Amino acid sequence: MSNKLSERPLKHCFYWKFVANPPVLKVAINVPLSRLFDYLPPADGRCPPPGTRVRVPFGKQRLVGLVVAHAADSELPRNRIRRVLEVLDDAPLLGEVDLWLVRFTSDYYHHPVGEVAAAAIPALLRQGRPRNPVLRHVAGTDAARHFDIDALAKKAPRQAELLEVLLDAGGNGVDVETLAEQIPTWRRSFRALAGKALVTEFVMRADDPEPPTRGEATAGPELNGDQQAALDEIRSTTGFHASILDGVTGSGKTEVYLHLISETIASGRQVLVLVPEIGLTPQLVTRLRKRLGIEPALLHSGLSDLERLRSWRQARNGDARLVVGTRSAVFTPLQDAGLFIVDEEHDHSFKQQEGLRYSARDLAIARAKHLDIPIVLGSATPTLEMLHHCEAGNYSHLRLPSRAGAAKPPKLRIVDLGRTASSEGLSELLAEAISEHLAGSGQVLIFLNRRGFAPTLICSGCGHVAECSRCDSRMTVHAKDRRLRCHHCGSARPLDEHCGECGEAMRPLGEGTQRLEDALVRRYPDSRVMRIDSDSTQRKGSMDEALQRATRGEADILVGTQMLSKGHHFPHLTLVGIVNADQGLFGTDFRSDERLAQSIIQVAGRAGRESRVGEVIIQTAFPAHPFWPRLIEGGYERVAQDALEERRSASWPPFSRLALLRSAATRRSDAHAFLDVAAGVVAGLARGRLRVLGPVDAPMARRAGRYRAQLLLQSTDRRALHEVLRELRPMLEADPAARKVRWSIDVDPVELF
Ligand code: ADP
Ligand code: ZN
Repeated sequence: MSNKLSERPLKHCFYWKFVANPPVLKVAINVPLSRLFDYLPPADGRCPPPGTRVRVPFGKQRLVGLVVAHAADSELPRNRIRRVLEVLDDAPLLGEVDLWLVRFTSDYYHHPVGEVAAAAIPALLRQGRPRNPVLRHVAGTDAARHFDIDALAKKAPRQAELLEVLLDAGGNGVDVETLAEQIPTWRRSFRALAGKALVTEFVMRADDPEPPTRGEATAGPELNGDQQAALDEIRSTTGFHASILDGVTGSGKTEVYLHLISETIASGRQVLVLVPEIGLTPQLVTRLRKRLGIEPALLHSGLSDLERLRSWRQARNGDARLVVGTRSAVFTPLQDAGLFIVDEEHDHSFKQQEGLRYSARDLAIARAKHLDIPIVLGSATPTLEMLHHCEAGNYSHLRLPSRAGAAKPPKLRIVDLGRTASSEGLSELLAEAISEHLAGSGQVLIFLNRRGFAPTLICSGCGHVAECSRCDSRMTVHAKDRRLRCHHCGSARPLDEHCGECGEAMRPLGEGTQRLEDALVRRYPDSRVMRIDSDSTQRKGSMDEALQRATRGEADILVGTQMLSKGHHFPHLTLVGIVNADQGLFGTDFRSDERLAQSIIQVAGRAGRESRVGEVIIQTAFPAHPFWPRLIEGGYERVAQDALEERRSASWPPFSRLALLRSAATRRSDAHAFLDVAAGVVAGLARGRLRVLGPVDAPMARRAGRYRAQLLLQSTDRRALHEVLRELRPMLEADPAARKVRWSIDVDPVELF
């Protein structure tokens, strides 16, 4: 199938004035209702084709909508249909195949089509701006980056606030219209800051005068036998085919991608590469640029709206041959797509957890199928969903079992926390290993998936624990600013010195990354310790900066969360210490084994990526748990096989399909009442084809002051599940119980809370 966009300008399109009955325009509008809205073409006789943006009257508002289709008729009499006010594009923004994806996404996730359409186009276009907007931008200057904002905040808090916003936005700052929505009185603070040369104002345009240049491509290493076999296998098919590239970290998956990308581009077609939220590192971009000799168009959350629009346009008009982006890039229109790649397919950031709860990986597969092109999904720890497809013979399973080049696989070792002395989270064994590796000039990574100083503040007298007043959760201790923070709702309060119940002193219990950092600094005073987590890398660009410094070896000990486990290549890293692996051992979620194995293998993969052999030390209080021998002796593959068997016998995904209906309300009874209605409707529609679990309280029943409940629908018959959801959605939208709650449908949920 050809996926060329229709570029016919409107003047060639018919004018409705010459036909007896102008078509009815089916318009998607960004409102939470599962339907299209009917409009008539504007009075000037133009007739916007599908894929064109229009401004329409909607109640008393004027909103931007997207024409999705033309129809001969409407359920409404013609004299009651309102007219489009304005046509915003001279040519369709989205082509036929892009509109297909919007409709498919809306149907599959049972999500309002107008909201899907809005998610599929860049923010500036969604707001109704022209395709080549000229925007006034304001930004912080270089001088502002080294300026003491805390001092300014005391004298001029508004100026400090503005400066903070601008610095967070990065080099291109913010366009003034967006800024005005955020801080209506920004002008005055801006003038004061401009007087101190801390901010500048300039014009930015979306049209790019120079198309991305082609440089010299450089050759990579010669592929080894496994890589070559995988490449040959992928090349041997034409049209749609999904391949799972299952290779340990450092096995050379990226090299295989590079060959495929360059061949596809040479054949004149475009490539879309999806990477996890924090996998889009300067390292990867540099490698792509250098090897392929082209500038990839990037799409990720670190860009300004204008930069994103620019990349989007380059992808759409075909100037960009290679598009690399995170989750939402899956919607990017392409002139002539030839190949999709999803790197780190197992990564949870591919699933959006709010609003439109889509999986970019699954949509990429669906889109590849629709376009009839190949897709390659790579991971060192493929999800059971993908492995199951391989077993069933739908996808091919290509293995790269050993590390490419000289690197050897790291050695995994378990430390029994019950048998070795430990202080502040570090066992003697791990502490000794750290000393050894540092002495041998190796870099060390200490992994703990808990940020903050300590996860709990507890009374030394009565054992009372500081809890969040808005959530069913404990407050995390943040030592630097002496505050308690809730990691679920973001609320914060000063540290309690004394227990509110008995008056004894409160003390922190357990370790977070900040406390671990302090302990490491004290214990290894001659080493440079660097913490990388979402607290230490809040400012835009600071994370890339920190990772680059770590890569250059400017830190001896890295301590951090999940963030450190993804896609980075630290050439000098030889030891990985996993401080607390037990968090996942007794999880209630049916995915907990798969997750724990993925997170350990991923972080372990950072060790020994060059000539020196890496070592991985895992601390656990439960060394006898059957999970450990499986992982240590059989690796991820063994854990995955066992988990797959368990899921087969319990009929969990991928052997069944799930949809989770969530509701939240200030009163618990409202949250439940809504789901009771839903359960009743489902019972009527299901005719025994679905299992209904609930309604029950969510595992964290209260969060940010709202009570949460859920209803889980399960079926081995995917069609039946979707049939029920299709009827359920509009019924729920119309039900009075829905007005008292916030609710959502999550198809293929990855988090069951
Ligand atoms: P992955 O994407 O699986 O983590 P990479 O493609 O990044 O692996 O490869 C890991 C390292 O091994 C890189 O430094 C890469 O240049 C090198 N490498 C990959 N394939 C080969 C090969 N066939 N021969 C020599 N070195 C290789
Ligand atoms: Zn909270």
